[in-house]
Amino acid sequence: MPNATKFLPRLVRYIWAVPCSVVGLVLAAPLLLAGAKAHSVCGVLEIALSQQVKPDFRLLHRLPFCAITFGHVVIGLTAHNLEHLRAHEHEHVRQYERWGLFFFLAYPASSLYQWVRGNNPYWDNRFEVQARLSAANAKNEA
Ligand SMILES: [Zn+2]
Repeated sequence: MPNATKFLPRLVRYIWAVPCSVVGLVLAAPLLLAGAKAHSVCGVLEIALSQQVKPDFRLLHRLPFCAITFGHVVIGLTAHNLEHLRAHEHEHVRQYERWGLFFFLAYPASSLYQWVRGNNPYWDNRFEVQARLSAANAKNEA
């Protein structure tokens, strides 16, 4: 029998983030039908559009990101991107677990706040700063 003290909070975090994960699944469905590959890593569904190191579709080069997270769903251009950005994107997963559906408001609000202050809306976004720190810490621990 699973440890109830660990299992219940994890279940609650999954349920809290479900609306965001559903958005990710809806976006991922046509990609999966088009041949993208999905893997589960630490309870997160990671979907790679391409198994190549570099994206093999010209359209993918135009996207402004290499990976994007919606709840417990991470969509990456390539399997290599997913592996390389795993610590960063999984920090975003934890952010969704804390904020739930409100993350869809909090993230752009943080970008807007930084833009109004004259900062970069992406690089200075508090959630991106936190994700970069988490990824750097994970790299240092490895
Ligand atoms: Zn990020």
